[in-house]
Amino acid sequence: MHKQTLTDIVAGLRSKAFSSEEITRHYLDRIAKLDDTYNSFITVTAEQALNQARMADEQLANGEQAPLCGVPIAHKDIFCTTGVRTSCASRMLDNFIAPYDATVVENFNAAGTVMLGKTNMDEFAMGSSNETSWYGPVKNPWNTGCVPGGSSGGSAAAVAARLAPGATATDTGGSIRQPASLCGLTGLKPTYGRVSRFGMIAFASSLDQGGTLTQTAEDSALMLQVMAGFDPKDSTCVDKAVPDYCATLNDSLEGLTIGIPREYFSEGLNPDAETAVRNALAELEKLGATLKEITLPHTGLAVPAYYVIAPAECSANLSRFDGVRFGHRCEEPKDLEDMYKRSRAEGFGDEVKRRILVGTYCLSAGFYDAYYRKAQQVRQLIKQDFVEAFSEVDVIMGPTTTAPAFEFGAKGDDPVAMYLEDIYTISTNLAGLPGLSAPCGFVDNKPVGLQMIGNYFAEAKLLNIAHRFQQATDWHQQLPAVVANGTEG
Ligand code: GLN
Repeated sequence: MHKQTLTDIVAGLRSKAFSSEEITRHYLDRIAKLDDTYNSFITVTAEQALNQARMADEQLANGEQAPLCGVPIAHKDIFCTTGVRTSCASRMLDNFIAPYDATVVENFNAAGTVMLGKTNMDEFAMGSSNETSWYGPVKNPWNTGCVPGGSSGGSAAAVAARLAPGATATDTGGSIRQPASLCGLTGLKPTYGRVSRFGMIAFASSLDQGGTLTQTAEDSALMLQVMAGFDPKDSTCVDKAVPDYCATLNDSLEGLTIGIPREYFSEGLNPDAETAVRNALAELEKLGATLKEITLPHTGLAVPAYYVIAPAECSANLSRFDGVRFGHRCEEPKDLEDMYKRSRAEGFGDEVKRRILVGTYCLSAGFYDAYYRKAQQVRQLIKQDFVEAFSEVDVIMGPTTTAPAFEFGAKGDDPVAMYLEDIYTISTNLAGLPGLSAPCGFVDNKPVGLQMIGNYFAEAKLLNIAHRFQQATDWHQQLPAVVANGTEG
């Protein structure tokens, strides 16, 4: 039952092949049996899920047409959910029960989905390996000695292990696409402003964007259809009509020009991962696309610019967690200052503290011009590279990551090595463009992804290309051996 895609589940519910309660129970049982191994959920909302499922079954019986009525999914624990702990994987918010739903969650509720629970992540979405979570690391279902990627590692592992058919996620510098690549999934980060950030706990507000982790591009289209759209509660959300993402999935790729940035095939890229990506590009040529070498000359500046801008914004966003308005409060503070200091010292983990320190430094008087303003100028140059590239090509492609999943601890002592994990994904966020990662092969029995970067609001085009690629290949249908032969747990 769990080998079905989200699209299969929608069809199965409509044809009454199974009920929402049955399929929901099936996933809850799998989570109960297997998630001790993966640690992909922080909170499982079993009782609430079964209630939602029974309601969905009644609605389905009455001919209700909410698009995803009765379909179980999981939400990254960065999205506020009424009455359910929303921790952002931080000790700081271990006790936080959100009093309202994020707009994304509200949209899914209105579409009839059933929430299985809240998925694990890097603390406050800072990381690329899911090793910074207060609730412990998440294991990659393809190889439990390796990380699932991050920060949306819990959502990725849950879908890869088929503990959920699809999940929400967020991407500030690569947090959807990198775990998608490392876990063999389709991950979509939409254009900045396409999906509301209201109720999505802020890390770096000018970069954060909600998106999807699914088995297929078709499933991603179904989820994005529900998530996307204007929200008056988020002033950065764009008021632009949402196209029918499923309607164009099968469009021909004849005449498509794919830009291949020279800088994305540089030194440091694993040669076998490169071969997988080049084979995928050859497959797209067979489907009618033309490849064209391009250059994105400022690519090398993306990681340094990001690691000024993201920490700067995070230092401002995380100042609200002071033990008074939100979050963990230390025991028996001596005075106000002691309370602030100890609450924040106890509530935040090392990586979060490192970012707050770097960000506060970059924003302080005397350094602002040298670091923050300079980084914003570099950001403009990176954006300009893409604008120029898109005057010649329809889409840009390359690897999502330099290599497949790495072992636990491999980059833990070296923040810079960890930061370089996102070398191919970060520019997209700095420019605000949409990006998608689709499985395109294996290296050492671990999945790797093909990244596609689209022009602004070209999500439908990315989903169309990924869908056509998935019609022609079967990388996305591969399952971790234990899931395929049912010997997990
Ligand atoms: N790995 C990057 C970071 O740690 C990106 C994280 C993200 O996209 N949320 O900042």
